[in-house]
Amino acid sequence: MVSATFKIALDGPSGSGKSTLAKNLAKHYGFVYIDTGALYRTIGLFVSERGIASDDAAAIVAVLPEIHIEMKLENGGGVVYLGGKKIGEEIRTPLCSKYASDVSKIPEVRAFLLETQRSIARENNVIMDGRDIGTVILPDAQVKLFIIASPEARAKRRYAELCEKGIETTYEAVLSDMKWRDANDSGREIAPAIPAEDAIHFDNSGLSIEETAEKAIEIIDKVYKR
Ligand code: C5P
Repeated sequence: MVSATFKIALDGPSGSGKSTLAKNLAKHYGFVYIDTGALYRTIGLFVSERGIASDDAAAIVAVLPEIHIEMKLENGGGVVYLGGKKIGEEIRTPLCSKYASDVSKIPEVRAFLLETQRSIARENNVIMDGRDIGTVILPDAQVKLFIIASPEARAKRRYAELCEKGIETTYEAVLSDMKWRDANDSGREIAPAIPAEDAIHFDNSGLSIEETAEKAIEIIDKVYKR
């Protein structure tokens, strides 16, 4: 079957610079940018506000029918709404990161978010970032990139990002959170954060934001003909 839309899957561990790269690529190609981590973070936010422990899978599954989550397109990107309320930076805290990583291990949660992600890619040219985009969500993506970078390089970036947003933390705390999430995300049974067989491995450890985008554009241009 020939796909009507062009899809770029961008997977990799936390802090690998996926979202910055995805935003730059979306701008360059005029594609819609979808941050799928925001969906898991929003479920994490809902569950934490209910006072449910992040590892209480039964309680989390029980509240899923009450969660009205939507992804609306605004200014070329997907924006998450929870119960009709626009979600912003409140999902970027370390607590929401932990909750997101834990809730995303639950098969019912992944199934709950599947169609929201796929339906956008059916209607639009997209660049979607996450952990299982190339393997599960968009296995027919024309380009699949899997970003890798050392935990230290990623922690340094993430720490700078959080400081910029005024979120108080330390480099050590970010690094240890990152290592915990790496193990939690790649060691899980369902949709582990691993590259698809046909993914291109892309190490951006020593590259600037601009160099990373240039290198990715070179790869994509070989496949995407405007
Ligand atoms: O990408 P981000 O760090 O915002 O994602 C938060 C968490 O959501 C990740 O640590 C991962 O556990 C989960 N996630 C996932 N599948 C995706 C995107 C995110 O399991 N496609």
